[in-house]
Amino acid sequence: MPVLDPATGQRLCEVADATPEDGLAALDAAAAAQAGWARTAPRERSEILMRAHRLLLDDADRLALIATLEMGKPLAEARGEIAYAAEFFRWFAEEAVRLDGGYMPAPGGGSRFLVTRQPVGPSLLITPWNFPMAMGARKIGPALAAGCTSVVKPAEQTPLCTLALARILHEAGVPAGVVNVVTTSDPGALMTPLIHDPRSRKLSFTGSTAVGKKLLEQCARTVMRTSMELGGNAPFLVFDDADLDAAVDGAIAAKMRNIGQACTAANRFLVQRGVAAEFAERLAARMGELPLGRGTEPGVVVGPLIDADAVTKVTELVADARARGARVLLGGDPLDGPGNFYPATVLVDVPDAAQICHTEVFGPVASIATFDTEDEAVARANDTPYGLVSYVYTEGLRRGLRISEALDTGMVGLNQGVVSNPAAPFGGVKESGLGREGGLVGIDEFLEIKYIGVPL
Ligand code: NAP
Repeated sequence: MPVLDPATGQRLCEVADATPEDGLAALDAAAAAQAGWARTAPRERSEILMRAHRLLLDDADRLALIATLEMGKPLAEARGEIAYAAEFFRWFAEEAVRLDGGYMPAPGGGSRFLVTRQPVGPSLLITPWNFPMAMGARKIGPALAAGCTSVVKPAEQTPLCTLALARILHEAGVPAGVVNVVTTSDPGALMTPLIHDPRSRKLSFTGSTAVGKKLLEQCARTVMRTSMELGGNAPFLVFDDADLDAAVDGAIAAKMRNIGQACTAANRFLVQRGVAAEFAERLAARMGELPLGRGTEPGVVVGPLIDADAVTKVTELVADARARGARVLLGGDPLDGPGNFYPATVLVDVPDAAQICHTEVFGPVASIATFDTEDEAVARANDTPYGLVSYVYTEGLRRGLRISEALDTGMVGLNQGVVSNPAAPFGGVKESGLGREGGLVGIDEFLEIKYIGVPL
């Protein structure tokens, strides 16, 4: 199947289009390798992951170029993603040797409880196109650390990053059969038999809520364990007492990272009335200065969107908001020419009824509305089925903590515009997902707890 450059629409290369039989062969390999990998000493698993961390960093320029070519993000951001991906290997290398358990007397006496944690088994890992390297590492890292083998299915648009990652893992010493990548243009046909196969013991998925729900239904058949990192609709709250310089910096990070194509992207700016006009003008001025172009060109910040459908979706969301009364401060019209480019855009006076307030924009459009009171801000921020991340800007410590606790999201950026860190538990509530990746709990997604009762 072809791999396209979203900046030009041209074919970069072709990769294998796996059949369902290829998928089953990958699961056969993962199942055959499981017992041996689980027996491999944690220290050895750790050292392999540490080598993978170093190899990724040593090869960062080449890997970043691959990411930019197939996904479109600017090279500087792609380099950042490689470092972020490598950090998951380091973090989980450190975790692999800390798989502790418990030993306690039964309350009634006479016996002891031993509690141990064991690898869940062969795992299916499905990743999206927006952070192809980091999302792969965020799943493969803890799976390897815990002692699980895997079948990895990258997004159709970005198979090259995952294939490059697989080669690095091989060089780092991951034995044959432990990590198996299958690239396909028909994910349903390939993955459904694997999901229904009782040898698969875990599905870890990152992608849209719609596909995640479908996969959860499929997993019900074998009561398979799941981790779901799904879509978001992040509110970005700015209060009258915020440091506006910091809020604008944070807004640029939260909105423009990955050209707005992040599950954590600020989707709705809610700004207190006293500072709303100034915040919007300053944000529009900053966004208007960001160079647009092909991600490989030096200095570019606004690269292309992933495909033509993404441009159509953003165009329609902006048109709908304008039709409902939103005003355009910056951008607002699609660009002519080759490639899937959409300009940085700022909308103000966006009514809550506009579709853009209820849909993941996945593009460089900042949609701004105003609020008056704290209670109103929290109620509007929480008025969504999603619950991945919120951002809050206020200089008031008590207010910041109060609001952070009241926001119904798995993560909060309190006076910061980026929440992704391998050492922190990443994940959402409500329709944004189940489970956490990274942090001290990340490895638990690939472990089962076993209690062994022993009479004395
Ligand atoms: P998507 O359409 O849901 O696809 C995600 C992955 O699922 C791709 O590998 C896709 O393969 C595969 N897939 C699609 N249908 C499938 C099926 N029936 N069976 C098995 N696999 C299937 O999402 P996307 O457009 O790639 O990614 C964007 C979404 O991911 C956004 O909603 C974003 O918020 C979310 N996301 C969430 C997080 C998080 O941590 N919460 C992080 C990044 C992205 P194909 O590519 O071949 O369709």
